[in-house]
Amino acid sequence: MNQNKRFLLIVGLLLVAIWGIGTYFGTPRPPHQRPPGATSPGGRRVIRTDADWKAQLSRAQYAVLRESNTEWPNSSDLTHEKRPGVYVCAGCHNPLFSSKAKFESNTGWPSFFAPIVTNATYTEPDGNRTEIRCAVCDGHLGHVFPDGPEPTGLRYCINGDALLFQPD
Ligand SMILES: [Zn+2]
Repeated sequence: MNQNKRFLLIVGLLLVAIWGIGTYFGTPRPPHQRPPGATSPGGRRVIRTDADWKAQLSRAQYAVLRESNTEWPNSSDLTHEKRPGVYVCAGCHNPLFSSKAKFESNTGWPSFFAPIVTNATYTEPDGNRTEIRCAVCDGHLGHVFPDGPEPTGLRYCINGDALLFQPD
């Protein structure tokens, strides 16, 4: 009887351990909750599983877009890109920023004063900062700060790994 109880206890603990490990490593991240009323150009949406994003994106792109990491400053060639063209989302190719709105912020990250169209991105509170996400795939892009140049006074501080540049 006593031995049976001990056996059940060990089995129970094992099940809890397996469940815990499975939950930690195996559970896919829940899809990002968009703010109510968020729209996107043409209503376009790209929704993929975590595994599909991992397969499609480079490690650096995945870390920024899907895990909201921030790349090291000055690590992206796009920071000092000066050619005319369009910056699209590296995850879903949604056009995000025009070179016409790009400026040199000397922060080490590509910086823009406005998205290419209002609903190309959406914002979310992130502590004392405001996060910017792609309106089509919900990928994390960077943050927006109220210290940018005219005409908007905004500085969209964007990770180069979240962008692909399409020169004109
Ligand atoms: Zn996107």
